[in-house]
Amino acid sequence: MIQEIIPYAYLLAAVLLIVGMKNLGSPKTAPRGNQIAATGMAVAIIATLVMNEVVSFTVIIAGVVVGSAIGAVLATRIQMTAMPQMVALLNGFGGGASALVATAELLNYVRADSEPTGIVPLAIVLGVLIGAITFTGSLIAFGKLQELVTGAAVTYPGQQIVNGLLAITTIALGVLVVMDPLVLGPYWGLIAMGLLLGVLLVIPIGGADMPVVISLLNSYSGLAACATGFVLGNAGLVISGSLVGASGIILTKIMCDAMNRSLANVLFGAFGAAEASGGGGGGVETRTAKGYTPEDAAVIFSNARTCIVVPGYGMAVAQAQHAVRELSDELGTHGIRVKFAIHPVAGRMPGHMNVLLAEADVPYEDLIEMEEINSEFPETDVALVIGANDVVNPDARTDKGSPIYGMPILDVDRSQHVFVIKRSMNPGFAGVQNPLFFNDNTMMIFGDAKGVVLKLVEAIRDLA
Ligand code: NDP
Repeated sequence: MIQEIIPYAYLLAAVLLIVGMKNLGSPKTAPRGNQIAATGMAVAIIATLVMNEVVSFTVIIAGVVVGSAIGAVLATRIQMTAMPQMVALLNGFGGGASALVATAELLNYVRADSEPTGIVPLAIVLGVLIGAITFTGSLIAFGKLQELVTGAAVTYPGQQIVNGLLAITTIALGVLVVMDPLVLGPYWGLIAMGLLLGVLLVIPIGGADMPVVISLLNSYSGLAACATGFVLGNAGLVISGSLVGASGIILTKIMCDAMNRSLANVLFGAFGAAEASGGGGGGVETRTAKGYTPEDAAVIFSNARTCIVVPGYGMAVAQAQHAVRELSDELGTHGIRVKFAIHPVAGRMPGHMNVLLAEADVPYEDLIEMEEINSEFPETDVALVIGANDVVNPDARTDKGSPIYGMPILDVDRSQHVFVIKRSMNPGFAGVQNPLFFNDNTMMIFGDAKGVVLKLVEAIRDLA
């Protein structure tokens, strides 16, 4: 009886996962979306555990206890700024798990001396290959972001040819496995090739592009799980894997669009090479940036009616979101209308700024997407840039030689006054100079974002 319910349980799990994902589309409904999706995953896990295919609960429980303990420690200790690395590791483990399951299943067939039929041999090949590529590719992405290996693009002459030859060899091995799955030689070769390709495909990509690569690897981990679902004949795994695969690729596309780059350019363009050389496009800046105090800025605010706050990676580093919320409230009490401009790739992961500002209870309706808010800058008294750099770099609009040329930016330079809070003149993630800092209407306020914002709050209060 219970066995007959299992397919319906998977169907319910799939519906919950899809509804959960739909809810994740807006910051307001995202927490509920998370809970719904988690419930869906719980239903899928329970359905799997009650299946009569389970051989030993001892091993499963041991795995759950050890895995949950490690996961809980990592999740509570991880800094918000290190989230991309954490996601990279999780993707890698997901891919590795799929490769292991596909291998275990093939070994079962070998042991029983029964040939897998239908789509199963192809699914085994895809599961193990995509899983192995995802595993080592994600470890390299993790290593680059954690600075365990060089973040620069590692390139050498003939690299594309070497990768091309390896890809052809891999396809040939895959065909051999599909033709005769019970001969294990080509299968081990296929795993080795997958592991090698994961490394070789990610090392030529610069650290600046790692978040896009991680999103792509996330998609791969879903595809590997989906293939493994076909190997096991498990509908739950097929559905959840394809959801991850599809949403990962959509997110990758959104990130590429936000940087005005094609996926091919990210994967093969060695953008990191330009970044490593610190190259900007235009000539050397001869103007000097002017440093001001929070008190100077408060005087300007005393005559302002509108302010757009532009948060960036530096706000995340300084954990300044609560101070920023305090500032926004203080400005509000002085009759200044405050809005927040959200660039799609501000910070280091999609939605980074939304998450931080939501944590500080900034109302969702005050967070305005780039396309919508850009027309408002020319009528704005103060654009307050907090730890953002690349996403407000006007060179992206005008300097064809700049590595970030074409990336849509927030047009803060069109506001009447621009305050930029950062610690130094150091560049942002793309490693390029920002002419905004030298404009006549720009006031640089140097210091840690949290400290400066709190001083600004005090200075504005003192003026009243
Ligand atoms: P940037 O990396 O361009 O700049 C961040 C700035 O913050 C730095 O210039 C730094 O200057 C400053 N900063 C660092 N720490 C502090 C601190 N404690 N207090 C004050 N300022 C600080 O950030 P953006 O958000 O503008 O741009 C994001 C970049 O990341 C883009 O290039 C984007 O393409 C890239 N990226 C983002 C992805 C995403 O999903 N969000 C994905 C892929 C790439 P200083 O050291 O002088 O303080």
